[in-house]
Amino acid sequence: MIFKYGVPYSERFEDVYFNRNEGLSESRYVFLEGSNTPDRWGGRDVFVIGETGFGTGLNFLASWHSWRNTHCRPQRLHFVSVEKHPLSRDDLIRCQQCFPELEALYRCLIEQYPLDPSGFHRLFFDEGDVVLTLCFGDVERVLSDLRVTVDSWFMDGFSPTKNPEMWAPSVCSRIAALSAKNTVLSTFTAAGQVRRNLESAGFKVRKEAGFGSKREMIVAEFREDSTSEKTPWFSWPSCGRKFQSAIVIGAGIGGCQIAARLAKRGLQTTVIERNAAVASEASGNYHAVISPKISADNGGSSQFYRQCFNFAVSELTREASSDLWQSCGVLQLIKDDRSRSRWQSLRSRPHSDYIFEVLDADAASTRAGVRLREGGLFFRGAGFVLPSTWCRHLLQHPDIQVVGNTAVDTVRPHGDGWQVTANSDSETGCREFFADLIVLANGNHNALLNLNYAPCMPVAGQTSRVAANPVSGNLSCVLDHSGYVLPAIDGWHTIGSTYDRDSYATKPCKEADRRNLLQQVQNLPGVFSRHDDIGDHHAATRFVSPDRYPFAGPVIDESYCAEVYGDLGHGRHWKTYPTARFIPGLYLLTALGSRGFTTAALCAEVLASQICGEPVPVPASIVENTHPARYLIRALRKNATT
Ligand code: SAM
Repeated sequence: MIFKYGVPYSERFEDVYFNRNEGLSESRYVFLEGSNTPDRWGGRDVFVIGETGFGTGLNFLASWHSWRNTHCRPQRLHFVSVEKHPLSRDDLIRCQQCFPELEALYRCLIEQYPLDPSGFHRLFFDEGDVVLTLCFGDVERVLSDLRVTVDSWFMDGFSPTKNPEMWAPSVCSRIAALSAKNTVLSTFTAAGQVRRNLESAGFKVRKEAGFGSKREMIVAEFREDSTSEKTPWFSWPSCGRKFQSAIVIGAGIGGCQIAARLAKRGLQTTVIERNAAVASEASGNYHAVISPKISADNGGSSQFYRQCFNFAVSELTREASSDLWQSCGVLQLIKDDRSRSRWQSLRSRPHSDYIFEVLDADAASTRAGVRLREGGLFFRGAGFVLPSTWCRHLLQHPDIQVVGNTAVDTVRPHGDGWQVTANSDSETGCREFFADLIVLANGNHNALLNLNYAPCMPVAGQTSRVAANPVSGNLSCVLDHSGYVLPAIDGWHTIGSTYDRDSYATKPCKEADRRNLLQQVQNLPGVFSRHDDIGDHHAATRFVSPDRYPFAGPVIDESYCAEVYGDLGHGRHWKTYPTARFIPGLYLLTALGSRGFTTAALCAEVLASQICGEPVPVPASIVENTHPARYLIRALRKNATT
């Protein structure tokens, strides 16, 4: 982007980002008023604006500004925008100067604006009542990946003659697929081809007077009933009613994250925990590392971790104090020749440099503050958090009640909602709880429900504390090898973790401490020695799925799904299948494994968004990879082909 005629200008498209003289007035006239948005959003719980072409963020800021200054407005404003060539933070700072009226809002946007120009990012403003979901990527791909129903569309992708792909028939069809009856679209252009493409996609198009010297512009209404999903077996039904209350079982990081998000959306939320304190088991280590796991192919799993990582770090930066969250960086060390060549290949991947750098042994040693034999991947924004303090922070909401020392026995439907029976240590004995919905966040859902199609395995893990020695005391970032070690805090390093598959061991033992220390000695010779003092320790069982993705989603009606999707592998068109059926009000957020502090925040946001009918902040592939029904669907596909 450059500045030409005093406004931002794209050399790629040879066009300006907004009107030379009256950018803000045009944005208000064409998009907000054109789509009649401020008259339609009043009284709504949630209103969703979709935009093609985020550019300088002007339309978003104009919408937010209007929301702030309107009495009758939705409780939550979602703005979902697609952008293939994101501007940099510095570009936005320059754009800010064009609009003194929006200066304060621009500042908030710039503060949170993602450095990583790939994937989806969700940003929260005004206590989370204004939510921006920025989807970086080509318009057609992103619109195919989005799970959202839009109320107002702003089509703003440079002039159709200069950038026809932004207005293509396929783009208009995707826009229609993400619209509902009475969705309104507006755009500055009146081009005949755009009109025809919108009409073919099902919009009723009319022309209105354009802004300033422009004669006409397009306003279009979607009159059809609804949308279609290419994977009806993973689609979520609209819940059909507004949930008022929730029970969350488990106060580990998964339970605390989902409770915080449901309470924010107005649900009275009860968190039931079998231990006296929150974050006592797998979330009870001294420290938890927040860092992504990137593989050389940059495939599905890397995308998942990358988005989780970006989301977790932006939440911690926004909400956590510096003693709770330390973003000292994490260095993933090269372990062998395979990982060396794998990481070298990452260097050439697009966008790789935004979240990590590949360092040789010398550069890595300088970063780490200790002499290292090997280099590795350095994740600048990564770091570690104090788990129990962070979990307690998340639960601080007047609509969250935490019930400790209470072990859930049964979960069963009750009227339109759910009943939980639980045993307390206290004199109260057996207790009952009722709510509209339940989220199992107890690590292993199969301890309470028997969902054979959603397998979960135990992995025991122990972390230990080792006294800093004169060399290790200089460590300045987290080192991640076959285990990990944190910089010393008050003279002690946290090291870990053992990873004992199929073990439920929860009692810490000296043997595991020795293994943890030995791992450091072997991976970091000259930094640790076998004779270093071992202090305290913590052991717990975490649960993982075979593919290591968590389960975040609804519990399906298994027999119905097995019946209607039984011939999935026969190649019938997806349109011939009905949407899935779920057990109403029953959800999972489990199997977070050993990276729960990195993944739980985004998984909980995905789950809460779907429960409350809000836009989903991740591409469809992530919803599907974390969906509780994924193993069942894979098995049905396979059965039919063999
Ligand atoms: N709405 C913006 C604002 O408020 O500043 C102005 C948008 S500008 C006119 C058009 C935007 O569309 C540019 O930022 C451009 O990078 C983006 N764009 C162009 N082609 C695209 C494509 N194929 N997919 C996604 N975004 C695209």
